Amino acid sequence: MPLSPLVEGYDQVILDLDGCVWVGDQPVEGSVGAVAALRTAGKRVAFATNNSWHSGEDQVAKLWSLGIQASLADVVTVGGAVQHLLAETRSGRTAFVIGRETLCRHVADAGLKVLNGTELASRVDVVVVGGTDDMHYRDLRDASLAVRRGAELLATGRDPTLPMPEGFWPGAGAILAAVETAAETTALIVGKPQPQLLLTALDRLGEGSTLVVGDRLDSDVAAAGAAGLDAALVLSGGATTEAAAAAPDPGPVAVARTLADLVCDSL
Ligand SMILES: [Mg+2]
Repeated sequence: MPLSPLVEGYDQVILDLDGCVWVGDQPVEGSVGAVAALRTAGKRVAFATNNSWHSGEDQVAKLWSLGIQASLADVVTVGGAVQHLLAETRSGRTAFVIGRETLCRHVADAGLKVLNGTELASRVDVVVVGGTDDMHYRDLRDASLAVRRGAELLATGRDPTLPMPEGFWPGAGAILAAVETAAETTALIVGKPQPQLLLTALDRLGEGSTLVVGDRLDSDVAAAGAAGLDAALVLSGGATTEAAAAAPDPGPVAVARTLADLVCDSL
């Protein structure tokens, strides 16, 4: 399958996962073939995700299950980025995590003492917020108490929603908004729209002209701009052409219905 002229002009691509390659457990129509076409044409492919529900290993397993070959080095996760940042700068401190077990493990592996479920949860040094489907009022309470007592607030991202087959679920940004509102502060964001995930992916891909593809203007396209890379927007995660047209500079270099429509020459 020949590549579109736009994609043919790049040496490598960094793909978002949720809303771009898949929605929930279902691949976006044509995405598996699109990744195969990129590789057949000699383009290097990496994946960068703000999703902290799942580990890098889980994302690799999911890619394989859909028919996309990938190794751990091909997948840059925000959980890994959180771990790297914390290990470099905050090892030995105490932490409270709103997020799934995967994110807790990243924080612990960075050398922090995770005090979830203890009496000291509201007296930690660092609060880390990510996406989760398992949260209680007391988590919001302990996080906001800790931040009001001086804890740093870090978060995986501000993505308000997570695209799923049945519609949009609340994303990490929705949970973060609750903590920020209660604590009257603003978090440090580790994932997209910060450039770090993309820069890590670039490190692994090597030199070459690079296109970032994602489904969110406020995270994927904005992160590409911050990293000095071109971005294309796909509409399979809920973004609209109207929103793309109104995006602040630098906006997407292309907008397509799906990854397959972007990558493959339909003529
Ligand atoms: Mg996405």
